[in-house]
Amino acid sequence: MRLSQMLLDTLRETPSEAEIPSHKLLLRAGYIRRIGSGLYAYLPLMWRVLNKISQIIREEMDATGAQECLLPQLQPSELWEESGRWETYTKAEGIMFALIDRQQRQLGLGPTHEEVITAIARDSIRSYRELPQNLYQIQTKFRDEIRPRFGLMRGREFIMKDAYSFNSDPSSLEETYNQMAKAYANILRRCGLSFTAVEADTGAIGGSASQEFMVLAESGEDEVLYTEDGQYAANIEKAVSIPPDAEPSPFSEFEKRDTPNTPTIASLCEFLNCSPTTVVKNVLYEALFDNETVVPVLVSIRGDQDVNDVKLTNTLSNMASHYGAKELMGLNVADEDVQKKWAAKALPLGYIAPDLSDEYIKPSDKIEPKFLRLADETVTNLKNFVTGSNETGCHVVGANWGEQFSLPETVVDLREAQARDRAVHDPEQPLQFARGIEVGHIFQLGTKYSQAMDATYTNRDGKEVPIHMGCYGIGVSRLAQATVEQSYDDDGIIWPLAIAPYQVIITVPNMNDTQQAQVAQELYNDLLTAGVEVLLDDREERAGVKFKDADLIGIPYRLVTGRSLQDGNVEIIKRADRSSHNVPISDVVTTLMQWLTN
Ligand code: ATP
Ligand code: MG
Repeated sequence: MRLSQMLLDTLRETPSEAEIPSHKLLLRAGYIRRIGSGLYAYLPLMWRVLNKISQIIREEMDATGAQECLLPQLQPSELWEESGRWETYTKAEGIMFALIDRQQRQLGLGPTHEEVITAIARDSIRSYRELPQNLYQIQTKFRDEIRPRFGLMRGREFIMKDAYSFNSDPSSLEETYNQMAKAYANILRRCGLSFTAVEADTGAIGGSASQEFMVLAESGEDEVLYTEDGQYAANIEKAVSIPPDAEPSPFSEFEKRDTPNTPTIASLCEFLNCSPTTVVKNVLYEALFDNETVVPVLVSIRGDQDVNDVKLTNTLSNMASHYGAKELMGLNVADEDVQKKWAAKALPLGYIAPDLSDEYIKPSDKIEPKFLRLADETVTNLKNFVTGSNETGCHVVGANWGEQFSLPETVVDLREAQARDRAVHDPEQPLQFARGIEVGHIFQLGTKYSQAMDATYTNRDGKEVPIHMGCYGIGVSRLAQATVEQSYDDDGIIWPLAIAPYQVIITVPNMNDTQQAQVAQELYNDLLTAGVEVLLDDREERAGVKFKDADLIGIPYRLVTGRSLQDGNVEIIKRADRSSHNVPISDVVTTLMQWLTN
């Protein structure tokens, strides 16, 4: 391709909308343009990168026996009603764009395709002989993200590879899942990314395994905890650890103390001169279920620890049936505003005890009359602890479970693991913290969708049983930008060779110099013939501008037909390390071919 004929609009100034390096660079180098919030045009250079990534994905997916297909992006609401996700996706979370067509039918724009693919499996898979199957597609997904940002990292329209497997049983599912984990590692390695596979939250589906593939970067929106020995890595939403030991309580007698103006753990511990590890903190939430029931929740956790919202959400989701509901729709910390709905009188916020009376709850048929009392494991062994007294300005000290308070019946892991906590597999290993960009996610779904949508098969014993399913996603457009986030310098992007839009750029410093232009033209033809993806910068621009642009767009090899021609050489500069090599004109093609295939 000749640059003189290409739509390439590089910018000197960074557009103000961009916050992180990869977003700035892709805009400046003319790869993408913003069309609206979370909506981007992939310009010709970007489209080549995306196609290269897609090709690598296809090769690795096909190698596992997976089959490519293409599913509709417009999806009938009926399918989502069957799986029970229409309400959550369009209303509670609101992530799905929904519309009504002119026949008054409701449709959603596909944020993901479990429903569509399960409907297909239900119709076409009948017997165990037809299993396993694994279908994938690469297409645009739509999600009405609440905070689209960082360019392609979180768009409202983005490209995803999604695959769905159908297996006869959990062990077959596990086999496909492991195969996918390997394929994902191959894909990311081939794209030139350094990445970490981490344990991920499986939501309320429970039991099944899930892994996320993270590109570690400062700008990542996910938080990862891992150990140096490489044995453990998990998304913080899911991470477990051994908390620091509690310090011995300085109190040995139970008594109530005046503790004025101590609504926070820090202020309380300073006032009482005790460690937060000797405090039982009681945090109030309200849970909202799909049958409109409000359940006030009281969580007791050690003072130095924080509640992990994802763990709490999962715990509550699993309890939905206790409240005659199917799903948890929302979870809020019960601050002054929130409690107005259901509190009978002002709550002693900041001074709550584990035995806060149910009389604080206003009688109503939509409100559960009793607190759901949950304790995190960190509080069960505390002795002579400090906690609230249910009276503003007072706490109690020297309290014990089984004496002044009874331990809540439900004890679960609700705490957020933190950096420096001890690892469970080896307490000598402290957890380390890093930020990550989630580029891929693989998931053992089990029978959640097949059961809801009646996708069954006849097993060897002639029994009709639900198909086991897995789903496997890669954010193609996010992955492209994550690569840039991991590979750039002050002058621009440094594409890994495998996904660079072009492999080589020939820069002609002065188009008016006929020798320069002619050698460049000949090399361009020869490289094209040799199958090299090459750009020819034949623009009537100053050499400085051309060099800057070549660095900015990040083509791995730059050929310059400049001064070195006097000695019969062409200068080749490697973008990654800026090393410069003088190569005789006649050797250029073979030398480059060697570098490109290594
Ligand atoms: P996130 O937690 O970042 O919102 P997710 O867990 O909802 O992502 P999945 O449903 O697992 O995403 O989708 C599979 C992959 O699609 C993700 O691993 C990610 O790479 C990509 N992806 C998801 N949402 C977006 C988005 N809004 N923009 C770009 N890529 C996305
Ligand atoms: Mg995910």
